[in-house]
Amino acid sequence: MASFLLCFCFLLTYMSSYALEFSSNPHGLEINKSYAAIDKFDWKRRQMVKYQLRNRGIKDKRVLAAISKVPRHEFVDSSLRDLAYSDSPLPIGHNQTISQPYIVAYMTEAGEISPSDKVLEIGTGSGYQAAVLGEIAKEVYSIEIIPQLAIKARRTLSRLGYQNIQVKTGDGYQGWVENAPYDAIIVTAAPESIPKPLIEQLAINGKMVIPVGKSNQEIFVLTKTQNGTLSEKTIPVRFVPMRRKFLQ
Ligand code: SAH
Repeated sequence: MASFLLCFCFLLTYMSSYALEFSSNPHGLEINKSYAAIDKFDWKRRQMVKYQLRNRGIKDKRVLAAISKVPRHEFVDSSLRDLAYSDSPLPIGHNQTISQPYIVAYMTEAGEISPSDKVLEIGTGSGYQAAVLGEIAKEVYSIEIIPQLAIKARRTLSRLGYQNIQVKTGDGYQGWVENAPYDAIIVTAAPESIPKPLIEQLAINGKMVIPVGKSNQEIFVLTKTQNGTLSEKTIPVRFVPMRRKFLQ
């Protein structure tokens, strides 16, 4: 009996030291480290959705789910990753910015986008707003006037696996007539007045969400009807101006 107990104790000690060794092997540590990184951004994203979006009145479940899913830190420079979920716009190079999370949520909610929709975005920038739209809509077409930004956004979106988003370089003022009409148009650069080609490319009952103005801008939500358009002026904002010339 004594020798059996001794044997059992020995076995226990041996097994626990083996378990210790196993959990601290280099691979184990590597895996734990990457989980910690995922958890950090996941936690920050949840806090952002709760405090910056829900608490300020964003209600659309599809919008909240999409923003809870899209890894915003993948759309900014690696040196800014820790700030990706903060309550502000961030630089993305070429004097442009990725919009504040609340504004992305506000505009997406105002677009009343549903899963069968075809959506046009003007001003791809980092591709973040396009990704949020891509989580909800069937197809997303996005236009960016700065070629380098369009290339980078296309790369980010394909790395993250978005297959329903197309990005092209061009002047978004003209829209993307080949795929029109669109159920929603989201414009993320501010023109001084609403571009006519965009109204023409909006489907009947479609919504356009667009910042309009020079130094004092406001977001307009325009609905196209059989008889014309209805537009509602909403919140004051500050977007980069919509450029009119194609840049090389
Ligand atoms: N939606 C972007 C942020 C937009 S910043 C994001 O989620 O990151 C505004 C962008 O609009 C800039 O990248 C700017 O280059 C682009 N832009 C300005 N004028 C434009 C135009 N006429 N056509 C297309 N893009 C334009």
